[in-house]
Amino acid sequence: MPDPLVLTGATLIDGTGAAPVSGRAVVVRDGRIHAVVAERDAPSGQTLRLDGLTLLPGLINCHVHLCFGGEADPGTAMVKEAFAATVIKATMRARETVEAGVTTVRDLGGRDYAELSVRDAVRSGTIPGPRVLCAGKGICITGGHGWQLIGREADGPDEVRKAVREQLRAGADVIKIFATGGVMTPGVEPNSAQLTLDEVRAAIEEARKAGRRTAAHAMGSDGIANCLDGGITTIEHGVFLTEALCERMVRDGVFLVPTLIAPAAIAAGGLAAGIPEYAVRKSLAVADRHLEGFRMALRAGVMIAAGADSGTPCNPHGTLVPELALMVKGGMTPAAAVHAATAVAARALGLEHETGRIAPGLAADLLAVDGNPAERIEALDEVRFVMAQGRIAVNRLK
Ligand SMILES: [Zn+2]
Repeated sequence: MPDPLVLTGATLIDGTGAAPVSGRAVVVRDGRIHAVVAERDAPSGQTLRLDGLTLLPGLINCHVHLCFGGEADPGTAMVKEAFAATVIKATMRARETVEAGVTTVRDLGGRDYAELSVRDAVRSGTIPGPRVLCAGKGICITGGHGWQLIGREADGPDEVRKAVREQLRAGADVIKIFATGGVMTPGVEPNSAQLTLDEVRAAIEEARKAGRRTAAHAMGSDGIANCLDGGITTIEHGVFLTEALCERMVRDGVFLVPTLIAPAAIAAGGLAAGIPEYAVRKSLAVADRHLEGFRMALRAGVMIAAGADSGTPCNPHGTLVPELALMVKGGMTPAAAVHAATAVAARALGLEHETGRIAPGLAADLLAVDGNPAERIEALDEVRFVMAQGRIAVNRLK
C-alpha cells in the first residue's frame, strides 16, 4: 500500500450539514478517503498543511452542458463550429470546472455524445476534469423544447421507449426528458406541458428497468405533475411549482434542481449582450415566478440539489458560486447551500456512497478554500486546493 497523504490544519465541513469542526486530519489513500481522525492520531506519511483554510467535499453541479460554452447564443455558436472544435472546448470546460472545485457534474445534453467521451477520458485519467454523468440526448416531442440541439424527438410511448433505449445503448448514465416548453427553443412556452403522461411514464419505466435515474426539464405545473405521476428523480427548473406540487415532492422524495442562474443570467445580459430575443423575453417572464417556486420548495422542505445549467447564455462553466449565491438570496443559509452542492446533490445523482461527503470509503473529492463558505458562500471561489478522485487538480498552497 502506498504512503497515505494526510491533510491537516483545516476547518472541516464534511458535507452532511453538520457544523464545521477543527482539529481533524483527513487521510487519503489509493484515491479514496481512508480515514478522518484527530490530528494527534494522524499517521505518518506525506502531509499537506491547510492551516486557516476550510476543507469540504468537492462540489457537485447537477445540471451542466459541457458542449455549450455560455456565449450569448451558445446554440448558434456550437452549430457553426466543427464537431472537433466542440470536443476540444468541452475538454477545456471540464478542466475549468474541476479547477473551480467542482468534482462532479451531471451533463443533461450535449452534441452527438461528445460529452460521453469527455466523461470517459476523465475516468481513464487522460484529461483532468470532474466525474461526469451523462444523459446523452433528452427525449422531447416533435418540435418541442430541445428538438433543435440536444433533443431526440419521439411521439407516443413506444417511440419514447425506443428513444430511451438509444440513449442507454450510447452509454447514458441518466435519462433526461423534456416535460414542458422552455426558454432556449423558439416557439414553445415554458408553462405548457409537452410529453404526455403516458410518454413520461414510458420513459421513466425504460430508465428504471436499466437501473437509471431520470431528470426532467419541467417548468410548467402540468408538466411537473406528469413527472411526479411517472416517478421522476429530479425536477429541473421547477418554475411554476405550487404548494401542492411541493408537498408531493417531499412525500415522494423528489429532488428539485432549481438552476436559478440560468434565466437570471439571460435577463441580466439581455438583448445588449446578443442573447436571442425569444430567450430574453421568456426569461424575463419567468424570472420572478422561478424565485417564488424556489422559495415555496424551500419552505415546504423539498430536497434541493445545486445545478447551474452551465453553458446557457452568459452562464459559463467553472464556479458554482453564482447559482449558490442566488439560492442564498432566495432564503437558503450558506451552510444549507453547501449541503445542497455536496451530500444532497450526491443523493440526487445516486452517488451518496461515492462522493458528496468527507467520510471513510468515499472517493477523495476534496476542496480547500480560504474563508468559511458556511457563513459566506462566495468563499467557495477562494480555491486553494482541489483533489478529484485522488488526483490533485489545483495546488495553490503556500
Ligand atoms: Zn439545461
